[in-house]
Amino acid sequence: MKLSERLNTICKLIPPGSRLADIGSDHALLPTYAVQNGVVVSAIAGEVNQGPFDAATKQVAEAGLQNKIEVRLGDGLAAIQAGEVDVITIAGMGGALIVRILTEGREKLIGVQRLILQPNVGEDLVRRWLLEEGWLLRSEQILHEDGKIYEVLTGDRSKVAESENAKLYAETTIGEPPVKLSREQLLQFGPFLVQQASPVFHEKWIGEIAKFERVARSMERSENEDAKEKRAELERYIESLKEVLACLPKDKPLFN
Ligand code: SAM
Repeated sequence: MKLSERLNTICKLIPPGSRLADIGSDHALLPTYAVQNGVVVSAIAGEVNQGPFDAATKQVAEAGLQNKIEVRLGDGLAAIQAGEVDVITIAGMGGALIVRILTEGREKLIGVQRLILQPNVGEDLVRRWLLEEGWLLRSEQILHEDGKIYEVLTGDRSKVAESENAKLYAETTIGEPPVKLSREQLLQFGPFLVQQASPVFHEKWIGEIAKFERVARSMERSENEDAKEKRAELERYIESLKEVLACLPKDKPLFN
């Protein structure tokens, strides 16, 4: 069995020997691979929808791993009990849904040491949740697969979360010419990702700017005062994004 690069990136972030819960597991590919390769000792594959739940059950049975992987039907963290797992992965959903799942299931997080989260959109919402809930942002990955760009955020339970997060999100100056980054901008770009400024990071934000510019253009014809103000706000935001990108190193090739 071979995982996609996205799921493989997530798998590599699971500490060996963990008990895993993969929420929104779909075909249970990640837990199956993680058990087969000795990364985790056991896993729970949580699914809210019957179709993916059936697919996950079939996958686990075909792999002969029913003694190691439990497939459970449930909304978010309702599929697990507090203290059952050390690591939770939630991947392939919007950031707002990931935040809802974590917020509604907060009491199930007791004993969980690591959250590995891969929002398809709304990464800033997930960073903000981790920060506000006192999880240390341990790492950020960005990758390009099948024409899409994904970010993987790892949050750890840590005694030094507050002090380390304070440093990570403190207003800082980077790049050449130097540009100041506020806490809000660090939440948006990702404090690790903006420092690395990888080619994929540039590609992501060039794409985002193009999207926002299309939206701004579509607002051009409106005479409505509200729409005019919104467009001006969006244009200021686009300029601030461009300013940051222009100051980050970009000598590395965009595609490698
Ligand atoms: N995690 C896999 C991955 O990254 O490849 C599958 C991602 S798939 C796009 C999203 C899955 O999340 C779907 O199978 C969907 O049924 C499930 N899902 C959506 N909301 C959920 C919730 N509240 N609780 C559990 N699963 C959920």
